[in-house]
Amino acid sequence: ATRTGVRPREVATHCPYCALQCGMTLRATGDRVEVAPRDFPTNRGGLCQKGWTAAELLDHPERLTTPLLRDRPGAALRPAGWDEALDRIVAGLGAVRDRHGPDAVAVFGGGGLTNEKAYALGRFARVTLRTRHIDYNGRWCMSSAAAAGNRAFGVDRGLPFPLADLGRADTLLLVGANPAETMPPLMRHVTELRERGGRLIVVDPRATATARQADLHLQPLPGTDLAVANALLHVALTEGLVDRTYVAARTTGFDEVRRTVAGYWPAAVERLSGVPAADLEATARALATVDRAIILTARGAEQHAKGVDTVTAFVNLALALGLPGRPGSGYGCLTGQGNGQGGREHGQKADQLPGYRRIDDPAAREHVARVWGVDPATLPGPGVPAYQLLDSLGTPAGPRALLVFGSNPVVSAPRAARIESRLRDLDLLVVADLLRSETAELADVVLPVTQWAEEDGTMTNLEGRVLRRRALREPPVGVRSDLEILAALADRLPGATPLPSDPREVFEELRRASAGGPADYAGITWDRIDADTGVFWPCPDPDGPDHPRLFTDRFPTPDGLARFHPVAHRPAAEPVCADYPLHLTTGRVLAQYQSGTQTRRVSALRRAAPGGFVELHPDLAARLGVADGTPVRVVSRRGELRAPARLTPTIRPDTVFAPFHWPGAARANSVTNDALDPVSGMPEFKICAVRVEPA
Ligand code: SF4
Repeated sequence: ATRTGVRPREVATHCPYCALQCGMTLRATGDRVEVAPRDFPTNRGGLCQKGWTAAELLDHPERLTTPLLRDRPGAALRPAGWDEALDRIVAGLGAVRDRHGPDAVAVFGGGGLTNEKAYALGRFARVTLRTRHIDYNGRWCMSSAAAAGNRAFGVDRGLPFPLADLGRADTLLLVGANPAETMPPLMRHVTELRERGGRLIVVDPRATATARQADLHLQPLPGTDLAVANALLHVALTEGLVDRTYVAARTTGFDEVRRTVAGYWPAAVERLSGVPAADLEATARALATVDRAIILTARGAEQHAKGVDTVTAFVNLALALGLPGRPGSGYGCLTGQGNGQGGREHGQKADQLPGYRRIDDPAAREHVARVWGVDPATLPGPGVPAYQLLDSLGTPAGPRALLVFGSNPVVSAPRAARIESRLRDLDLLVVADLLRSETAELADVVLPVTQWAEEDGTMTNLEGRVLRRRALREPPVGVRSDLEILAALADRLPGATPLPSDPREVFEELRRASAGGPADYAGITWDRIDADTGVFWPCPDPDGPDHPRLFTDRFPTPDGLARFHPVAHRPAAEPVCADYPLHLTTGRVLAQYQSGTQTRRVSALRRAAPGGFVELHPDLAARLGVADGTPVRVVSRRGELRAPARLTPTIRPDTVFAPFHWPGAARANSVTNDALDPVSGMPEFKICAVRVEPA
């Protein structure tokens, strides 16, 4: 793209949605923008429905093209000019800060923001607003895997190897992952594995589209994955399948883990999880007796109040089998949101500074403060994880003003009705979005922002590969980029230093801020990305190599060794009981994305997935007197959802499933549990106790 307003009529870019970041070509033909798949290492020429239809939102009639203001509580949002909207925000922020101090203002970001936006948002919060309160919706996606990876390997990069390794593995174990629906082009790599004679094993309480393709499907009770992992390691130990040379040379702490898993006899874990002992034994052997094996976790394992320990149990297994660092082998996490990886590296998280540095590390504060031109002593300390932040809004001890960029917590937060009421209690709620999301509907000020086809920048995909987002066309009149909004606010806020709004300039600053950190982008330039199929971090030297594969000879820990951590099974935060006798688990469907703000407005996707539903096993439905299509209520201690029943034998009879993409009566997160993982702050989206009754 040029800076003169003249745009090429065709650009190579990437899908705006998930972390696979499929390569696509955008073409402007007349008034229309066409999407075509592009051969790229992740998608190999494939796109899913969401990618194919992404351009429909560019000129969607519901697209926001002017700021909206609410004059007083209860009044309707009305169109306003940018000056009036920005002045209103600055006045509102000033009033809150004068009355309650800088920590009374909070910022909430998103895992779909570009690296440049995520970085700028962190700097804006900590330097311009001087608040410690910033976090983002990625806390609800990958934070458990991130914490487990950091404590075991010394770094968190979703896949520490290229995605193409999947096709080279002999055994692939997918835990709580359903890429056949959430990232369909990824299955091309799985197909390659199968065609080479490799085996796919899936751990999931539902017989998902992915599980139905597996050679072996383990269908545990929700919340028992940790015990399953410990049982797999138990089998490997008792059958002499542990790689003792690797464990001795490259790890520390195995003895304690060995003692912990000794009690996880397959027969005992069968009673707990429902997975047959023979299947546990077969899985352990399939992983441990081949040359190359990969273990991947996703939200099903991670979105629990014991998510970090559950992922750790699978990391322990991978380390004991000597997998990390070997080509075609290893442990990885399938990151979900488009820039879920980059979004957690550049300072958008409550506890982190750019370069994936800890905010409580004095050396990190010194380095980043120097880049920002401020005294390290003025940088705020750590804030609190996303749910705790939102749950404190409007309370006497919590923030009274919130700026939301690229997120829709009214639909995506656990215990969503409570979060909705917290948002209503604020003195000032500002939402920057391209559409009127359910969160925007509550705002005092709504700011219309650019979309992916109208902006330049970078994204970091699930492999840690930094990619270029390229603009095809100018945004509609009246729409601004998030970077321009932050810069405009900084210009208006008294005493604030100016912020760059040009994404390339922001990226250059990001490079300097990340230099020397675990996620080192210092050697990555836009030109270098353009010249290849992206650049993998860490890449400290513009003239040196990038690193598609990590851990080949050492781990980035002080002694170069990976850490085992003993972890024990514990029950879900909310056990079933006579009043709430069923488990609810939540998840995604192929034709919708996250809170659905975008995909619910795309006609083909709406036709394919028009509304929420509740999956029930036919045996359970018969007991409840419910037929296919009957409206049902799913009731928990926190609220209820209403949606038609969908009968399927692919789910356990003791468990029901609801996708979380819809607002209103079908909002699954009205029901979910806000119990949090003590390490990551991840809410327990994947299991709570409910009852189901005809509506
Ligand atoms: Fe887009 Fe993900 Fe679908 Fe690829 S798999 S087209 S990145 S939503």
